[in-house]
Amino acid sequence: MTEASFAVVWDLDDTLLDTSTEIIPRSHLAAATAMVEAGLNATIEEIHAYRMALAAQGAQGIDHLTASRFGGSISVANAGERAFLSTDVGFVPVAAPVIEMLRRLRPRVEHHLLTVGNTQRQIAKCHYGFDDDLFSSVHVLSPSHSMSKLAILQCVADCYGGPQRVIAVGDRPDAEISAANTLGMTSIRVRTGEHSRREIASPLEMATHVVHDILLVEELINSFLASSENARIDDF
Ligand SMILES: [Mg+2]
Repeated sequence: MTEASFAVVWDLDDTLLDTSTEIIPRSHLAAATAMVEAGLNATIEEIHAYRMALAAQGAQGIDHLTASRFGGSISVANAGERAFLSTDVGFVPVAAPVIEMLRRLRPRVEHHLLTVGNTQRQIAKCHYGFDDDLFSSVHVLSPSHSMSKLAILQCVADCYGGPQRVIAVGDRPDAEISAANTLGMTSIRVRTGEHSRREIASPLEMATHVVHDILLVEELINSFLASSENARIDDF
């Protein structure tokens, strides 16, 4: 058992970190550049604008849609996808109010970070974005690795005495939210970023709570802790 009795597992992109203003546009620009270099017959500006328009619509499969629009092959789409996922987007800070929220919660819960993506890029974001003592653990999963968010959430639940002591916060109903629900955890969906307009595909993707601003999560966590007080006393 750890020092604190409750844990919050936070997703990074579009949950704690707003990717819409800098990371996403820069990544689409890198992808557009890579697609031109791979032979796509259009300008970088045209491709970038098309990709951004698709992203604004919440489209899935942007690399393939873009390659198809400009007559490119699958290898062009793959070049775009690789660049989108791996390009170093530089320093993009987590907003100060988000850090302050985590610090206010820290005496009452332990924070864990769980993110999937290009390993070097995700680690760089964590390194730039947070002070060293804010998170009890940081998990960066490669998309190509078999380890899943569900497995990490299960490990955290085991460390804290069960899923009833863990809250998962994220923006993707098909990832961290469904994983948390599978384990019987409280799940909080933050409807921000590229998945904000996504509708749930099954009851398992329905979060316990839904908010449209990450800063509203603090009140939900405090309510969760207050209502869990009796169970906590029983455990002692
Ligand atoms: Mg996310």
